[in-house]
Amino acid sequence: MTSKTRRGEKKLDHVAVAVKDMASTLRFYQEVMGISPSHQAVLPQQGVKVAFLPVGDSAIELLEPTDPQGAVARFLERRGEGLHHICFQVADIDAELRSLAQKGVELIDKEPRPGAEGRVGFLHPRNASGVLIELVQKD
Ligand code: ZN
Repeated sequence: MTSKTRRGEKKLDHVAVAVKDMASTLRFYQEVMGISPSHQAVLPQQGVKVAFLPVGDSAIELLEPTDPQGAVARFLERRGEGLHHICFQVADIDAELRSLAQKGVELIDKEPRPGAEGRVGFLHPRNASGVLIELVQKD
């Protein structure tokens, strides 16, 4: 979907939306917006199912909880449906997380961990006006 990211450069990889009903949300995007999912998956460790809707070089990621105790289920209870996180693609996630920590940024992941499409790390929403930020390195 996306071309390689150069060191220091950031690309908007995807915008993730928490939804209660994946099927009806997918119908809206397909029938009203004309955007079909490129792939869908169930991620049992994260307690979610995901669908990716490609839009240019970026995508919309839909997240529906499968685990009522999971992070996305709790998010829906607290805040309702809507923007869950934005994700930037970076060339070197280890270096990015180190440099953010040095700048005093509050990290949810001090070390990258495996995500759906590469190694990922999350920054606390307190850093960015309430928006959860994900970084991903796709090798
Ligand atoms: Zn994401």
